[in-house]
Amino acid sequence: AAKGNGRGRHHFYDEDLHSDARERQQLEEDLRDAIASGSLELHYQPQVRTTTERITGFEALLRWKHPVHGYLSPAKFIPVAEETGLVAQIGEWALRTACRDLAGWPEEVRVAVNVSPLQFANPALPAIVTSAIAAAGINPARLELEITESVFLGEDKSTESMFTALKGIGVRLALDDFGTGYSSLGYLKKAPFDKIKIDQSFVRGATVPGSRNGAIISSIVSLAEALGMETTAEGVETLDELDLVRVLGCSHVQGFIYARPITCEAAAAKLSESLTAVAQGPRSARAPR
Ligand code: C2E
Ligand code: MG
Ligand code: MG
Ligand code: MG
Repeated sequence: AAKGNGRGRHHFYDEDLHSDARERQQLEEDLRDAIASGSLELHYQPQVRTTTERITGFEALLRWKHPVHGYLSPAKFIPVAEETGLVAQIGEWALRTACRDLAGWPEEVRVAVNVSPLQFANPALPAIVTSAIAAAGINPARLELEITESVFLGEDKSTESMFTALKGIGVRLALDDFGTGYSSLGYLKKAPFDKIKIDQSFVRGATVPGSRNGAIISSIVSLAEALGMETTAEGVETLDELDLVRVLGCSHVQGFIYARPITCEAAAAKLSESLTAVAQGPRSARAPR
């Protein structure tokens, strides 16, 4: 139910979906069908260590292959999945699929999976994670869960015990989109994160003269290092941005400069390229242009 509202470019499902109950309901129905018919896919985006330019892992990103409208971005359907509770089912599928795909990749490679606030609030999450790990037969330390600051809203005792339970399983935890929410330092004190992902809004424009973004990135890096956490610069698109975040000390980079999210098969191919490259010179893992 695309709206014929005459906006130059619009998607099947509108941005202002929430204001249109019928369209939202249609999306919910289609999403249920998508789950049932297996038209959800996980694509994988490389995460690269800045010092070696080797791929250390991949972030699993949901794609909905719509029979008519092609690939739909999770930005479109995750909010609806959150509101309807469907995200629980989708999230569990993503965890299982990512662990299974990871089992086919070399031991030194990790996979990062996004966990929604709704999943995080579910007391069954540790059992679901444990089961996904066991079914795939992977080392728990190879799985990283990406969590956003929003899990701290309405924080109570169960938030803390969830962190304890997840760390107890042996998985890694990453704080996603850091800097976009409340970014309270208290979160960093309380939660046992292994990595902070610096939101791409700080990377974007950081190379523009006079930009304050570099100072912010470098402060986050210092803080993370002092706390023994790694840092990933998200959304690095240009060589200038890559050079900058490397100089600022980010331990990892993720962005179109290396690769867009790609299929599992393409990820495996990229990986063997990265791991077998004879000359690990600077920028060897970088996309040709
Ligand atoms: P995120 O977790 O912050 O994921 C990073 C997003 O940045 C991805 O968008 C990725 O494609 C995009 N990105 C990466 N590098 C670049 C770059 O160089 N330039 C630009 N412009 N963008 C870049 P994507 O795949 O559309 O995902 C959007 C969001 O949807 C994710 O943000 C995450 O919050 C959510 N999401 C995706 N998969 C899942 C999932 O399995 N479960 C849950 N709960 N949420 C998911
Ligand atoms: Mg993420
Ligand atoms: Mg992010
Ligand atoms: Mg995001």
